[in-house]
Amino acid sequence: MAVIEAKNIKKSYGKNETKFDALKGVDLKVEKGESVAIIGKSGSGKSTFMHILALLDQPTSGDIYLNGKNVTSIRKKVLNKTRNEEFGFVFQQFFMNAKDTVLNNVLLPLKIGGISGSKRKKMALDALKAVGLEDKVQNKANNLSGGQKQRVCIARALVNNPQIIFADEPTGNLDSKNSREIVDLLKLTQRKYKQTLIMITHDERIAMQADRIIVIEDGQIKKDEVLHK
Ligand code: ADP
Ligand code: MG
Repeated sequence: MAVIEAKNIKKSYGKNETKFDALKGVDLKVEKGESVAIIGKSGSGKSTFMHILALLDQPTSGDIYLNGKNVTSIRKKVLNKTRNEEFGFVFQQFFMNAKDTVLNNVLLPLKIGGISGSKRKKMALDALKAVGLEDKVQNKANNLSGGQKQRVCIARALVNNPQIIFADEPTGNLDSKNSREIVDLLKLTQRKYKQTLIMITHDERIAMQADRIIVIEDGQIKKDEVLHK
């Protein structure tokens, strides 16, 4: 069974003269443990699609299935819980609390999930070890380099042991050396924890490292190619 499936997803922004069809009927089935790169020009609908897949936004029509269950219109509270437990997120802009410590940033999803203090500290330290930042736990997030910040975000994405990691241009603010390291790390942790990775990138070399490449053009999937099995 697919871990996540999108069926005929359409998304329009605005109405009447200003109506814009950002997604025009997108179907996608991702198997558990797959790594999928989504590529396409700026404005092609990649982020819109990922936001809908990750239950951060509602489609205009169409359905999202998580482990076979239709989750398109589940109640807000259940939806937030599902997202917090099943998904990890890594974004280009390293969304973090810059003034807080590395440790507290990684703890946050566990705190929201209601995990006890001592347990969440251990889990956060394990995640920070997995990304090679065990010596930075008490540093302020602000004082880290870009590559280190993205490692914190990966640790935070992993800390709940989610089923799916969603990454939207995770290397968009990094130089090529750090980009390679971050992608290697994402792939390594994905394999180690048997997760599914869905990553948007506009860097073709990075996309080539995924198991599968999806090309989005003008709100539609133009190509869907398996590279590695
Ligand atoms: P990508 O991630 O591929 O660069 P996006 O999914 O962010 O593209 O955007 C796809 C299209 O939808 C773009 O033309 C963008 O301007 C438009 N769009 C995205 N979000 C909104 C919004 N909130 N309101 C209106 N138009 C939007
Ligand atoms: Mg985008």
